[in-house]
Order: sequence, then C-alpha cells, then structure tokens
Amino acid sequence: MKRLLAVLLALFLVLPQTVFAENGGGSEKRIALTFDDGPHPETTEKILTLLSHYGIRATFFVIGENIEYFPDAFRKLASSGMEIGNHTYSHPKLSKESEQSLTEELRRCEELILSNGGSAPTLFRPPEGVRNRVVAAVSDREGYRTVYWSLDTLDWTGISSESISDKILRGVKENSIILCHDYIVGGGHTVEALARVIPLLLSEGYTFVTVSELLGDAN
Ligand SMILES: [Zn+2]
Repeated sequence: MKRLLAVLLALFLVLPQTVFAENGGGSEKRIALTFDDGPHPETTEKILTLLSHYGIRATFFVIGENIEYFPDAFRKLASSGMEIGNHTYSHPKLSKESEQSLTEELRRCEELILSNGGSAPTLFRPPEGVRNRVVAAVSDREGYRTVYWSLDTLDWTGISSESISDKILRGVKENSIILCHDYIVGGGHTVEALARVIPLLLSEGYTFVTVSELLGDAN
C-alpha cells in the first residue's frame, strides 16, 4: 500500500511538469493559418512579408497550374520556410472526379512542387473541402493526410477586411485551423485583415504554427 501511495505521489508530482513541458508552459494556444489556391504573384508575397515580419509560419495549399503560371512566386514561397500542401493540379470539381483522375491531379501538383524547389508535401486539402469516398481513398493511397479547416474566413467571397477580421476574432480558439486564400478571383481583402488580426491574436497569447505542427508531426 505504501508503495502504491508513493507511486501515485510521484505521478502527481511528475505529470503536470510533463504536460507543461510538452506544450511550452501550459499557456500556449496554438492555431494554424492556411492559404489556399496560390501561388499568386502579388498576394502570396505580401502574405509572406507579413508573416515574416511577425516571425510566424503558416501552411499554403497550392494549385499546380498556378505554380506553372507563377513559378517565381512559388519559388519564393518554397524558400520561405512555410509549409506547402497539395491542393490538386487544376482545382477540379471533386464531386465528379474519378479515383484515377484525382490521383493524376495530386501527382501532377506534387511533381510541380518538387521541381520548383518545394519539399515533398504530406498534406492534401481537397478543393472546396469535399469529403467523399474517392477523396479519402486516393489521399490515403498516395500517402497524404487530408486536411480541412475549423474556421472559414469567407475571404474568398470578397467581403471587407473588417468582416474577415471579425470572423477570425469571434471564431478563433485553441487548435483552430483557419481557412484563408492567397489567390481570389477578382481580388480580396485577406492581407489587410491579417495585418490587423495577427498582432491582436499574438497579444492574446496565440501561437501560430503550421498544420503539421498543430496535428503533431512537425517537419
Ligand atoms: Zn481551393
């Protein structure tokens, strides 16, 4: 009995320290910014400048076609230290995609990432967040982890920077994966919104990490 008590006491003393050591003191609230549909020759660079100003990392889910259109923008992204994920080659409607064509979409995007200075991607975000059997099967077979989001900024609809900021500030919580876009047809207000929101979130004790870091396999 005495031995059992001693073990329990030891656990009681050691456990909290272990937990705190793993999450950096127990006060860290980690969140991940993600950017879909790039690279874009202006917006991606503006976002990189903003992120590097605050010394934070994010995850970019790129489209293969846009790497072909804007290889310089992609190379800057690839050399920036940000995490890069696969968002298919041509952003097809996944509800109509066969396993074979989605496999080709993923491989073609991956080849473009690798041939333009990026590291082998491990994350796949399906266009429009489609969840179905084909997406799950192909992502798994190709060795990807499928990543969705928990907070949609709706920046892709063209809403104002104030509206985007409000969505983030009202919806954010520990472990949020925040969906933004660095390529919006017709333009968007994502950069202005983030310029306002990032310092606020930092002051509230949030730490920005990549999706892989948030999900637990840092790379
Ligand atoms: Zn997309």
